[in-house]
Amino acid sequence: MKHFAFCFLQQSVVPRMISACAVILAGAIAPIAQADLKVATLHPLMTDVANKVGGSHVTVVTLMSPGEDIHQFSPTSSDMTEARSADVVLASGKGVELYLPKLKASLPSTTHVIEAGNACRSIKLSAKDAIFACCPQHAAGSIDPHWWHSISGMQSAADYVAKEFGKADPANKDAYRANAKAWSAELKTLQSWAKREISKVPRSRRYLVTSHAAFGYFCKEYGFKSIPISGPTEEAVSSQYLSEAIEQVKANNVTTVFPENNASTKALDAIIAATGTRRGSPLIADGSASGVTTYKAFVEHNISAVVDGLGGS
Ligand SMILES: [Zn+2]
Ligand SMILES: [Zn+2]
Repeated sequence: MKHFAFCFLQQSVVPRMISACAVILAGAIAPIAQADLKVATLHPLMTDVANKVGGSHVTVVTLMSPGEDIHQFSPTSSDMTEARSADVVLASGKGVELYLPKLKASLPSTTHVIEAGNACRSIKLSAKDAIFACCPQHAAGSIDPHWWHSISGMQSAADYVAKEFGKADPANKDAYRANAKAWSAELKTLQSWAKREISKVPRSRRYLVTSHAAFGYFCKEYGFKSIPISGPTEEAVSSQYLSEAIEQVKANNVTTVFPENNASTKALDAIIAATGTRRGSPLIADGSASGVTTYKAFVEHNISAVVDGLGGS
């Protein structure tokens, strides 16, 4: 874990001077539309949520870049400065940001902290899945924080974020609601596409063997059985669980197992060696992958990888 540092120092004067110059220069070319709400996001997918719902009324600052490990991230002192200067801090929620209580306590009382995942119906980690959860805080019976795999959950989140943006910036509440409605319609189309694609995977092949227990919402949405086989880190995998996973892969004729873009492949390699099953394309488990900046691109990546790996004749 990175050290969590709070910065109570004034912002440096230099970046302010640079940004002031940039504003003057840009202003000489074209008038600048002043955004009404500054939003700092704590998860790459939340940056897209903020942009889609906020549209031209928000300036979005991403504190965590796509590709960073969401389970390891914690804000640096300059991230803290950004968060403190924002009107809204948009978190994914459901407990994934372990540092959120500390961050909240250090923000001005006027800052609105929104946890988008609050709008998505929770599922709980089973005892078996929790063995390979993201961290010890997500133990058996706790809420699975990986809600972004639910497109319907994201539709609810869009609505919820629009309402919360409206509270922070009442003058534009109708615009936020209209933006959320338009994006929700796009998400409905995305869900129809995803379901059509997934229909190419026969029901008998719907086993999703991945590294950590991140695909509960995906599996619920599309009728798969989730088989996580290792945590996101290099921690020792229980040999008993590994041999059970190997048995399940063999017994259910699992044709493909999937690495994750941010997780160790050690246990997966052992399963591949023991069963001769194929290695699929890496899945984006945590919604954070370098170059993937929209929710649509994230969904398309995973659905295509699963269908390529398990579908077809
Ligand atoms: Zn966790
Ligand atoms: Zn995860």
